[in-house]
Amino acid sequence: MSKTQWLSGRVARKTRWNDTHYSLAIAAEGPSFTAGQFIRVGMDLGEERVGRPYSLVNPPHEPLLEIFFNIVPEGPLSSRLAALETGDHIWLTDAANGFLTLTEVPEQARDLWMLATGTGVGPFLSMLQTDEPWVRFDNIVLGYGVRHPDALGYTDLIEQLEREHAGRFHFVPFITGEEIPGAFNCRIPETLADGRLEQHIGVALDPEHSHVMLCGHSGMISDAVEILEQRGLRRHRRREPGHISTEKYH
Ligand SMILES: Cc1cc2nc3c(=O)[nH]c(=O)nc-3n(C[C@H](O)[C@H](O)[C@H](O)COP(=O)(O)OP(=O)(O)OC[C@H]3O[C@@H](n4cnc5c(N)ncnc54)[C@H](O)[C@@H]3O)c2cc1C
Repeated sequence: MSKTQWLSGRVARKTRWNDTHYSLAIAAEGPSFTAGQFIRVGMDLGEERVGRPYSLVNPPHEPLLEIFFNIVPEGPLSSRLAALETGDHIWLTDAANGFLTLTEVPEQARDLWMLATGTGVGPFLSMLQTDEPWVRFDNIVLGYGVRHPDALGYTDLIEQLEREHAGRFHFVPFITGEEIPGAFNCRIPETLADGRLEQHIGVALDPEHSHVMLCGHSGMISDAVEILEQRGLRRHRRREPGHISTEKYH
């Protein structure tokens, strides 16, 4: 197997969502990828090249590679990425990886549940900008949890998806730090445990029809998986098809 190589890229567009949340669209002869996968992005910090995995938010047919991230104050890379400006140099890997993709979802699934905290919404937005989910699934749920509403990125894109797929696409924001009309004021797992999310959108979660993808904070993912397993859903593995796919960022 050939070793992953670093490729040169340039920041083509920078979006600042709030003080801590940013997106960078990168122009590069980058890798081909499947919606939902991640690449490694890097910067030279002193003598060292520091690279971290970031999911791609753009769909594979779009030329700019886009990442959505938040600043981790104690981390070396994220604050440096946030300080980049249009035209600045950035490194990225020549291969994309990851199994949080629709190709890993068993054919029999009828309803797709995409549940994210924070920037974990990125891979779902990539998938939702392809045709595949709209061809395959009857209902698509996007649950997106943040602490404050200004951390909700890509709301224009989400509203466009709601208009284009009214009745099939169910967007549900979770704002844990504030009471906002139209949003749940609690963590995602709570509404899986007491059935409020299903009641709210009118779609049932069950092993026969549902596939659940979870991305972002490990605490949310572990709690949600525990509840889903009590409901009879199982982790998906290639050799043992199931109903739950996860990707933990931290
Ligand atoms: C497969 C995969 C895909 C990822 N994709 C994304 C992505 O699309 N967007 C994104 O923002 N991050 C993503 N991450 C996390 C990302 O790789 C970095 O860890 C993060 O941006 C912080 O980088 P850093 O160098 O500043 O700090 P690090 O040295 O990487 O981390 C410092 C500490 O912060 C924790 N941490 C990491 N990410 C976060 C976070 N988002 N919020 C709070 N604490 C965190 C780490 O667990 C660690 O304890 C992904 C991680 C993995 C494993």
